[in-house]
Amino acid sequence: MLAIVETNLQFKRTPTRRSRTNRIIIHHSASADVSAATIHQWHLNQGWLGIGYHYVIRSNGMIERGRPENSIGSHSGPSGNGDSIGIVLAGNFQTSIPTVAQMKSLVELIKDLRSRYGNLKVIGHKDVMATACPGARFPWLELRARLEEKDMLAKLKLDTQVNLPDVNVVMEGKAIDKSVILNVDGKDTTYIPAVVLRDIGMGVTWDGTAKTVIIER
Ligand SMILES: [Zn+2]
Repeated sequence: MLAIVETNLQFKRTPTRRSRTNRIIIHHSASADVSAATIHQWHLNQGWLGIGYHYVIRSNGMIERGRPENSIGSHSGPSGNGDSIGIVLAGNFQTSIPTVAQMKSLVELIKDLRSRYGNLKVIGHKDVMATACPGARFPWLELRARLEEKDMLAKLKLDTQVNLPDVNVVMEGKAIDKSVILNVDGKDTTYIPAVVLRDIGMGVTWDGTAKTVIIER
């Protein structure tokens, strides 16, 4: 059973109930670690009913309740709010990456929501509005791999239609021998699951233009 920390936040009025739930929209707080109560105050100060997100995932992985899950959120504008659940991860993923504990909680939360609403699409705030949120370093590849329990780099091939032999690997700013990461073996190519890298604290992102897997702390 997923542990959600109840916050009992007081809204200016009861938020409107949401009639459709088709997707999950992910955000970063663009700040240091921050609580649902603090974000609630930020959003009250903007004249909103209260916190616009449904869930807040703290740096230590704790999941805090924001706006009631069945209500219309205020996180992704008119084109995003009506049919979505908004999840914010505390942190700024323009400059850093989510913690291992945060990603674990995010995956558990998404799986829990999908078990109740069906196979919700998972997108970023940037997919519905002109924003960098949830940040250039948010690890989409890792998230998708973890949700599907698949090898991240095998999935990369399906997603991007690149030939894996053309892929470069850069670790901490240096090009590395990709055979360390990709076990290229003729036609029977096998790949070391890059999710393992996150478990030892390394972030993995994909630059599709440069066809490069970027690994960094
Ligand atoms: Zn956002």
